[in-house]
Amino acid sequence: MIKFLKITGIVILVLFVLAGTALGLFVYKVKNGFPVSYETEPAEITIPAEGKKVLLFSKTTGFRHEESIEAGKAKFEELASQEGWFLHNTESAGVFNGDQLAKFDVVIFNNSTGRVLTDEQRVLVQEYVENGGKLIGIHGAGDDSHHWDWYQGKLLGAKFSHHPLDPQLQEAQVMLDDGAESVLAEGLSKGWKHTDEWYIFFENPRASDFDILYTINGDQIIPNGNLLWIKDKNWGMGEDHPVAWSKKVGNGKTFYTSMGHHAAVWEQKAFVDMLVNAVNW
Ligand SMILES: [Zn+2]
Repeated sequence: MIKFLKITGIVILVLFVLAGTALGLFVYKVKNGFPVSYETEPAEITIPAEGKKVLLFSKTTGFRHEESIEAGKAKFEELASQEGWFLHNTESAGVFNGDQLAKFDVVIFNNSTGRVLTDEQRVLVQEYVENGGKLIGIHGAGDDSHHWDWYQGKLLGAKFSHHPLDPQLQEAQVMLDDGAESVLAEGLSKGWKHTDEWYIFFENPRASDFDILYTINGDQIIPNGNLLWIKDKNWGMGEDHPVAWSKKVGNGKTFYTSMGHHAAVWEQKAFVDMLVNAVNW
């Protein structure tokens, strides 16, 4: 009997320690992201001197939107041959070095999530934008897995809270905003019906001096998501719910859209036109 109690006690203790470790790791991951591998060898590419040069970066160490990422790569390959861009389509961060990065006109985080760059590479991206480069983020690039203050402040302007789960994908009317940056908005759709996983942020980036390009009516989506018992939380977004916005940062520019969860968005002309304008802006 005593032996049985001892064994039971040890088993309970072991389970307790395992559960505690798992919880600790989970909390660490939420706060910092797990340690990941970084690439620091320069990319083996020849970047042409002339024409538009686009760096499409799809590395993930957080959630991976596999289908949308692959559809986005295919669409950008198609756009590059159509528009005559030089496209470097990669998931390796080696290209983020002082010499190569500066040669690109635009860097696109294609649903890139988690910690994907070293601290030095992050500083290079900041300097790149401040010196006239352009940074574009698509959907997952705006979730809370990046842990990068500059990126949060200059690209997103708002902290990600959650996304709806019931249902996860919802249709909404996307509307061109009156205050849209005029060059960025040139020739774009005034609005379209769009199905997506609508990200909800704690703040409205309009309040942080971002130029809003597109909004949806946040009161017309069901925001309930992975917030356990907390329901109907649209936080600081409410009716005025931006889904694409831009900012001039130093001599450069940033553009982010929270649209882009699933592969089908890449077949939506208005969505693709918006990204083409963001690249050409
Ligand atoms: Zn998503």
